[in-house]
Amino acid sequence: MYRIIDGKKISQEIKDELKEKAEAMKARGEERCLAVIQVGSDPASSVYVNNKKKACAYIGIQSLSYELPEETTEEELIDIIRELNERKDVNGILVQLPLPKHINEDRVLLAIAPEKDVDGFHPVNVGNLSIGRPGYASCTPAGVIQLLKRSDIEIEGKECVVLGRSNIVGKPMAMLLLRENGTVTVCHSRTKNLKEITKRADILVVAVGKPKFVDESYVKEGAVVIDVGIHRNDGNKLCGDVDFESVAPHTSAITPVPGGVGPMTIAMLMSNCMM
Ligand code: NAP
Repeated sequence: MYRIIDGKKISQEIKDELKEKAEAMKARGEERCLAVIQVGSDPASSVYVNNKKKACAYIGIQSLSYELPEETTEEELIDIIRELNERKDVNGILVQLPLPKHINEDRVLLAIAPEKDVDGFHPVNVGNLSIGRPGYASCTPAGVIQLLKRSDIEIEGKECVVLGRSNIVGKPMAMLLLRENGTVTVCHSRTKNLKEITKRADILVVAVGKPKFVDESYVKEGAVVIDVGIHRNDGNKLCGDVDFESVAPHTSAITPVPGGVGPMTIAMLMSNCMM
C-alpha cells in the first residue's frame, strides 16, 4: 500500500514554524521584507504574486509590491532592482517570471544582489549550491527535499533519478540530492534507454514538463515518486508529469497534483526570506 505525501500539510507546518520565528524576531526588533516585482498583468503571474504576498502576510514578513506596466523598459526595471539592492530594510527581491519579451531575463536576474536573491536563480547562488557553500537554493527543488525529509524518507545512499535538467528545477534538484548523499543520475531529452534508468530509482523526481509522461513502465516497484509537473488538462483539471493512477499502486510513496510539490515552492520562498 502506498503513502501519499501531503505537500499541503507539510507546507503549512513550515509556514507555521516560520511564523513563530518571525514573531521571535519581531520581539527582538528585527523584521524581514520581501520586494515582489511584476511587469505586465499576465493573469497566472498575478495569481502567483498574490499568493506570495498572502504568505508573507500570514508569516509576518513585510512585502513591497511593484506592479509595473507591460511597457516598462529593461533599464527602468534594473534601476528599481538597484535601488532595492541598496535598501537596508529590504532583504529579499523577487522578479516574477516570465518577463515581457522585450526584457532580457538573464540581465534582470543578474542585477539582483545575490544576498537578496531569495529565488536562488543568481549564478552566485547556483555556484554556492554546487560547491556546498551556504546560499539560497531554488525553491521548488528545496521543497522536494523538505517533502522527503519530513516524510522520513532517507536520501543517503539511495539511487536518485531526476527526470529533467532545467536551471530552476532539474539541475538544482540534482545538486540538493547530492548534498544529501544520494547517488544521483540526471536524465533529459537526449537520454538513451530512459526507462532502464528511471527504473533503477529508489527516488524518482519527475520534472519533464509533459502531462502524465511517466506511467508505471518507468517506475521500479516500491520507489518513491515525486511529481514536480503542473498542467491543466482540457477539463481545466490539474495534473502532473506523472500518470498518478497508473503509477501510485507501484510506489511506496508518491506526491499528488495538486497538493504535492506545488504548495512547497511558496513555503520555501518564505523560508529563504527568513534566512
Ligand atoms: P523545462 O524547462 O521544460 O524542462 C523540462 C526538462 O525535461 C528538460 O531538461 C528536457 O530535456 C526534459 N525532457 C523533455 N522531454 C523529455 C523526454 N521526452 N524525455 C526525457 N527528458 C525530457 O521544465 P521545468 O521548468 O523544469 O518544469 C518541469 C515541470 O515542473 C513543468 O511541468 C512545470 O510546470 C513544473 N514546475 C512546477 C513548479 C512548482 O512549483 N510545483 C515549479 C517549476 C516548474 P532537455 O534539457 O534535453 O530539453
